[in-house]
Amino acid sequence: MRRPFVVGNWKMNTDSHSSVTLAKAVASGPLEIAGHSVDVAVIPPFVYLQAVAGALSASSIAVGAQDIYYEQKGAFTGEISASMLKDIGCSYVLCGHSERRHVIGESDELINKKVTAAINGGLLPIFCVGEMLEEREASRTSEVVRGQIKNGLAGLSVEKVSAVTMAYEPVWAIGTGLTATPQQAQEVHALIRKQLGEMYDSKLAEEICILYGGSAKPGNASDLMAEQDIDGLLVGGASLNADDFVAIIKAAT
Ligand code: PEP
Repeated sequence: MRRPFVVGNWKMNTDSHSSVTLAKAVASGPLEIAGHSVDVAVIPPFVYLQAVAGALSASSIAVGAQDIYYEQKGAFTGEISASMLKDIGCSYVLCGHSERRHVIGESDELINKKVTAAINGGLLPIFCVGEMLEEREASRTSEVVRGQIKNGLAGLSVEKVSAVTMAYEPVWAIGTGLTATPQQAQEVHALIRKQLGEMYDSKLAEEICILYGGSAKPGNASDLMAEQDIDGLLVGGASLNADDFVAIIKAAT
């Protein structure tokens, strides 16, 4: 039985005051459901992680980071390691988000190193995959997503991959207001589960949590969540509004 999981990716938004206010507002909303029937995490910018983790310490809402570096420590100016993230109370880390793939230019190889470092450092990676619009239009969605999974998880054992949450995020639906229809999303989620079954085993494929991300909002959350292979939502824009995010959490129960 897979537990629903709702994650808010705040991207490069909020400030020292509003990050804590937003965290507290989210924590006071779904208190009665978070931790019981749905897992919830928020992913603030690095500089507000510690303050948000402190504001959420008495709640069941977990905190994650938007990125990680794969080395453990040393001369890597500007980078943040798994142990630093653990040290300040992070449980999750995004790896392979489309903005890092396509804006920053991260390769599958780098993403694989980050997923591996996260797991080895005791963090739970949320590993994002998804096709661009031109790839969907060229009927290459399956090939692209399969390749991202194969390369991103290369070298990891089934035990290690059991720490991973998958996220299907069609690039054309992120921050655009365009949402994949529940059927379009379900089709790719089923494909992801099948691919993981082929790479590992049916137990892992059945148990792994697969989130959908791409303009998820209160109005489409329950339809998306009703699909068999959609276990939760990775929410960008709508997670910046506590009422919307809480409504999405409620829709996921
Ligand atoms: C995201 O950042 O992962 C995301 C899905 O963003 P949005 O909900 O704004 O499309």
